[in-house]
Amino acid sequence: MSFNTKYIFVTGGVTSSLGKGIIAASLAKLLQARGFTVTIQKLDPYINIDPGTLNPYEHGECYVTDDGAETDLDLGHYERFLNVATSQANNVTTGRIYQAVIEKERKGVFLGKTVQVIPHITDEIKNRIKILGQTGQYQFVITEIGGTVGDIESLPYIEAVRQLKWELEQDCTVIHLTLLPYLATSGELKTKPTQHSVKLLLEYGVQPDILVCRSEHPINNDIRKKIALFCNVSAESVIEALDAPTIYEVPLLMEQEKLDQIVLKKLNVTKFNEIKLDKWKNFLNKFYNPSKEVYIGLIGKYVELKESYKSIAEALIHAGALNDCKVIVNWIHSEDLNKENISEICKDLKGIIVAPGFGNRGIEGKIHAIKFAREYNIPFLGICLGMQCAVVEFARNVIGLKDANSTEMDSSTSNPVIDLLEDQKNISHMGGTMRLGSFSCKIKEETLANKIYKQINIKERHRHRFEFNNKYTQQFIDNGMIISGLNPDADLAEIVEISSHPFFIGVQFHPEYKSTVENPHPLFVSFVNAALS
Ligand code: GLN
Repeated sequence: MSFNTKYIFVTGGVTSSLGKGIIAASLAKLLQARGFTVTIQKLDPYINIDPGTLNPYEHGECYVTDDGAETDLDLGHYERFLNVATSQANNVTTGRIYQAVIEKERKGVFLGKTVQVIPHITDEIKNRIKILGQTGQYQFVITEIGGTVGDIESLPYIEAVRQLKWELEQDCTVIHLTLLPYLATSGELKTKPTQHSVKLLLEYGVQPDILVCRSEHPINNDIRKKIALFCNVSAESVIEALDAPTIYEVPLLMEQEKLDQIVLKKLNVTKFNEIKLDKWKNFLNKFYNPSKEVYIGLIGKYVELKESYKSIAEALIHAGALNDCKVIVNWIHSEDLNKENISEICKDLKGIIVAPGFGNRGIEGKIHAIKFAREYNIPFLGICLGMQCAVVEFARNVIGLKDANSTEMDSSTSNPVIDLLEDQKNISHMGGTMRLGSFSCKIKEETLANKIYKQINIKERHRHRFEFNNKYTQQFIDNGMIISGLNPDADLAEIVEISSHPFFIGVQFHPEYKSTVENPHPLFVSFVNAALS
């Protein structure tokens, strides 16, 4: 179908955390299910260049794309919903916008002009929005504006939306997500915060076309009409977004509310296919009707904030549905684990995952959990730091190198079984300098990894500075831990496993980033399957 790329903006009002990312991803899913090509972009108003240097307590998980961008966790939702890879262009922060504008200023690009928020910053924002459309790959670009309308830092973004509404005319529409609070004492849903938030948008010159209203209770016609009247939209453009039992239900809720059809109408798209959501519904059906359940321990140091391990938790949901089983995750704080309590805490677990991470905190607890999984034949999956800890545990307790460690934890260890990557040794800047993004891995035949992936050449995403120290390879092999996956270009260990154990695997990469509803990741699928047997 040939038509100009359509741009859809999603803004948020009233409070943060209303789930703009999920609404954007759900709309994208519906448009995709009608045969359109869609991508989603997130604009984040903070000044960090990217979330790579942010503590997970601040902003949850840092999601990594194939091209090595460290991005907001909403991009994970976009990929999981659409099963289409995102890239650096899909996440832009204020820091990156300003950096680009200042670089241009230093090069003299602005020819002596005073550099200002309008037009220079807003032009840069608009360029970043249009870049995705200009690739020619997408019929729809959905841009989610981070933050809440009224925040000082999101103003230039809202101004860019205002300008684009003029420039793009029919090819652009704005969805505003708000909250209808419920007052239990009067038994009423209140519309005033929504009215005020739309007024604020109007003050900035943006009339939203569609209002998606989060609510704990159904929105009746009177309320829809009232919101429509006060906010200059049609009643059919007031969309109810009820709390859902799972984020994966939201596309179906939005379909019932005809969000996709209203968007298409606003954008003057009159020809579209019937919606095809069979695979999605099939997944949901399995998710809601598991025939069994399994307890998996997830050992990490940010477990009180589950957003920090978002992609792992979602990958387990995908793998659970495929295995007809409900995965119940026991979130275990690695700092709570010691030699004395490990068997009590882990005794009922059918599988153990040791999570990625940075720094020394909680490391010894992770090593205790790995020893327990190894000795008691419990299926084990170590991811990135989790794999490195498995190597340290094996070196200490099987090979007998008592002080073995990663030099990240002890730079003076006499047995650095995990050491800094060679090309990391002279790096002083922390931002964007890790081994990031997709790299090849060659799998050895007749290994657990080979059985899991059913292929030899794979690509997985990375985010690390340290690696297995190849000086120790022979000692590990002699004692029963093999390297079953290697990066063919740099000889870096990508996968380790213990052949005598029913399922013990550590991966230097992050398989969780590539698990989607349509394509659950084979490592998680096999891990859950092993936990069930
Ligand atoms: N801290 C480790 C490294 O940098 C592991 C990183 C991770 O788990 N993502 O190599």
